[in-house]
Amino acid sequence: MLLNTLQDTIEHNLQKKYNSRFSKEIISNFIQVVSMFDKEGCMSIYKISEYLKISETDSFILLSQLVKLNYLRPMYKIYCPKCHFTSKHIYSIEELGDSLICEECEHTVIDHENLLKYLTLMFQVI
Ligand SMILES: [Zn+2]
Repeated sequence: MLLNTLQDTIEHNLQKKYNSRFSKEIISNFIQVVSMFDKEGCMSIYKISEYLKISETDSFILLSQLVKLNYLRPMYKIYCPKCHFTSKHIYSIEELGDSLICEECEHTVIDHENLLKYLTLMFQVI
């Protein structure tokens, strides 16, 4: 999708739901940042909020717009607390059952009190 079309579409969709919460400039900067990532490149809510100096909630809202437009897809990185290796990427929670052992150190990467503790939500360029 052309950047101008992307900008117009996102502006239009956000305007409907959030009025003037997102300026043209923020949306434009957001598209610039995201377009620097190659296909299959991953970005986090935190990184985007840091780059654009916006809240993590706003970062999430902007990233979600690109999920709706099939430009990004959500995924999870599984992080091993023992060896700090990012073991695997999964695209749905159903895949979690197969991913509970760290590929690097074989530590069990699950906290039974908090199943999502070692998962980080990321967004990947499709
Ligand atoms: Zn490990």
